[in-house]
Amino acid sequence: MSPQTPPFPEASRNSPPPQSHDATPHSRPPGAPPEPPEVAALLARSNRLGSDPRNTNYAGGNTSAKGTATDPVTGQPAELLWVKGSGGDLGTLTASGLAVLRLDRLRALTGVYPGVEREDEMVAAFDYCLHGKGGAAPSIDTAMHGLVDAPHVDHLHPDSGIALATAADGERLTLECFGDRVLWVPWRRPGFQLGLDIAEVRRTHPGAIGVILGGHGITAWGATSDECEARSVEIIATAQRFLDTRGRTDPFGPEITEYLPLPGDERHARAAALAPAIRGLASTDRPQVGHFTDAQAVLDFLAGAEHPRLAALGTSCPDHFLRTKVRPMVLDLAPSAPLPDVLDRLRVLHAAYREDYRGYYERPDRVLGAGGGQAGPAPGAQAAGHARGPDHRRRIRDRPGHGGAAGGRGRVRGRRRQGRARSQEGGRADRLP
Ligand SMILES: [Zn+2]
Repeated sequence: MSPQTPPFPEASRNSPPPQSHDATPHSRPPGAPPEPPEVAALLARSNRLGSDPRNTNYAGGNTSAKGTATDPVTGQPAELLWVKGSGGDLGTLTASGLAVLRLDRLRALTGVYPGVEREDEMVAAFDYCLHGKGGAAPSIDTAMHGLVDAPHVDHLHPDSGIALATAADGERLTLECFGDRVLWVPWRRPGFQLGLDIAEVRRTHPGAIGVILGGHGITAWGATSDECEARSVEIIATAQRFLDTRGRTDPFGPEITEYLPLPGDERHARAAALAPAIRGLASTDRPQVGHFTDAQAVLDFLAGAEHPRLAALGTSCPDHFLRTKVRPMVLDLAPSAPLPDVLDRLRVLHAAYREDYRGYYERPDRVLGAGGGQAGPAPGAQAAGHARGPDHRRRIRDRPGHGGAAGGRGRVRGRRRQGRARSQEGGRADRLP
């Protein structure tokens, strides 16, 4: 140890990582120990991946690097894991947003893991694996990063990967798309067991570069930061090409003439006229800021006959749900409808949306008709199950219909995922992805 290096560099338990877009990349608190090269590479990779919305959603996904640093207590090298902490955003990630854990202790948790029914207890155990004060709070995905035996790991929620992950026949499509280079991991809610599942795939398929996580996203690994990033990008681009060549040309259905967009000037004038009313409604409980987009994809979606049905299906990935709620509110009037009619209709729809959302939390369970649009457990069931404990969760999981016919399976999985995500949104799980 050089005389200039303090023997016990100041370790800091940081406040939640900065979320603002003007955060200085790679900024470190004064007095912090020098960043190992793995960390600089990890931050640069995270910022690149996270700043492209094709790769992951805002504040979704996490990245990690493993490396060696001197343990200030023993003077001996210690194997460490640097991983994005709970709730941060990859695009603006800085060193203060990283959790830092001892790999030997993290790996040792497999020896005391009590099984999937008690996997939630493992999140608290991460605090006993921290290096120094540990940096940012470890996320629920920490196990995945620590247990997968690779120096660098990316976990992302790209639209193209999620399209395969949430397809009713996603496992077959993944095989067709990737062969044995990227493998399928069946849906499991984020946690310690999912980390073990992925680690097992990594161990038993040394030629694979990553996995599609059913109902969720992707995970890739690499020997170097560059290799890991290249593999993430490869998975995302390969899935996108597969969709481009194999997907339907009109996923939103035929165009409805009266729902075609207004000319640009009229469209923006209408948006400006509606913005105060919409923001007022959205701010019923607390002030909100808004964002308007008339990107071509949005206009195409709204002009398609299928948009009411598709919007009602809700988000397909639990990590999106955390940021967007279960489904959007759709104004069911043509763009050219008289403004007073639109304002009246927004108020009615908003009241119904709030009622529906409240019911989503409060319904303990729902008995569902066969074959209809509501097959499988109710959205609230998993959230309620989470609060009630493992027995209730097991009853939900073991229901007839779960894992049944391929046509309904995706929807069943989706509803259970959303329920879990809601329990996170509702604050019953304290660690975000
Ligand atoms: Zn995720």
